Amino acid sequence: MQTRLAPQYQSNPLAQEAETILRSCVHCGFCNATCPTYQVLGDELDGPRGRIYLLKELLAGATAAESTRLHLDRCLSCRACETTCPSGVRYARLLEIGRHLQNAALPRAPGEELRRRAIRAIIGQPRRLRPLLALAQTLRPVLRAPIARHIPVPAPVRSPYPVTTPQRGKVLALAGCVQSVATPQTEAALQKILAHLGYTLLRGEGCCGALSLHLDAWEEAHEQIRRNIDAWWPVVTAGVDAILVSASGCGSVVKDYGDILRDDPQYAAKAARIAALAKDPSEWLQAHREALPMATEERARIAFHAPCSLQHGQRIQGVAEAILQGLGYRLLPVTDAHLCCGSAGSYSLLQPQMAEELRRRKLENLEAEQPQWIATANVGCQLFLNQAAQVPVRHWLELVAEALPEA
Ligand code: SF4
Ligand code: SF4
Repeated sequence: MQTRLAPQYQSNPLAQEAETILRSCVHCGFCNATCPTYQVLGDELDGPRGRIYLLKELLAGATAAESTRLHLDRCLSCRACETTCPSGVRYARLLEIGRHLQNAALPRAPGEELRRRAIRAIIGQPRRLRPLLALAQTLRPVLRAPIARHIPVPAPVRSPYPVTTPQRGKVLALAGCVQSVATPQTEAALQKILAHLGYTLLRGEGCCGALSLHLDAWEEAHEQIRRNIDAWWPVVTAGVDAILVSASGCGSVVKDYGDILRDDPQYAAKAARIAALAKDPSEWLQAHREALPMATEERARIAFHAPCSLQHGQRIQGVAEAILQGLGYRLLPVTDAHLCCGSAGSYSLLQPQMAEELRRRKLENLEAEQPQWIATANVGCQLFLNQAAQVPVRHWLELVAEALPEA
């Protein structure tokens, strides 16, 4: 797709990058078929091809308009369109730049901006989120059921598990901001699995930066990433076998650290090293499958929800599912497994109607075969689906841990 940059963008490196991406789009529209918002709304401008067209117009000098923002904001950044695109269009990066340029040309209304700041200031900060969640959990028994369902109740955890001998190494595992507060059972499960395999879990603190990055607060995100690198670096240089990120949404961003800080002379090399070490636990466990027990009987019937950040962001498909099957879980077929559940980071807070419709469709498919549990790989999907699911939604690592013998 040819674009002529408007004079105000001609020397802007972001606009130049966007223009290069635009050139790879041949306007075929294959991507519309897998776009959740296009499926719900049926409007060309609420599909990837239409959004790409809007961004092209913006770069060519069209006046930034609220109507453009509406269609860009409705995008989930799920990247299903990237997986489908035959031309390899880097849509997510194009959208990120487009939103940034749109917001620079036409700032959001102060109330909207405040809402986004509040989300970043609370959700990405465990020291603020923890007391608020504790208060909500205290009030839960007296709240009406539809409200109470929105408040997660962490499962009890037993931790730490002793590491089996011989010890094979150390792994840095990111605690995550929301996961560490709302679902600590995931980290406990990972620790048990690693202990079983002979690895010590070293805990990495800090928000990965995804929330700020996706809410167009780039400087804030870069600062978070630099702080994380400073905090993790001594452990990395002392020697770790991998950096495991059990929330796939965070993993997708940590794997991008090298790219995000590529122009930072002080941090570029460190960021690239961290990105190279980052792995989803499914990739790690795949390489250690021989040390996991073989299934002797069927454990439970489960439906697996592959988060977009895992299947489209990290392009990991079928790996966690195969590990669960090897442990004796029966995986039920799920229609439209490539579609987003509506959670999408802060999307469910900012676009609740679309998010709830996508969740309704997703749960209909996940629960069609009457599973005992729904398993997933990202805390955001887990919490959002749990609010409306008929059966518990759990992190798949919990199911792996339960299949291992108690130490
Ligand atoms: S599938 Fe790819 S090339 Fe075709 S319209 Fe969509 S983004 Fe463009
Ligand atoms: S990222 Fe997802 S919601 Fe956005 S255009 Fe692509 S498929 Fe549609």
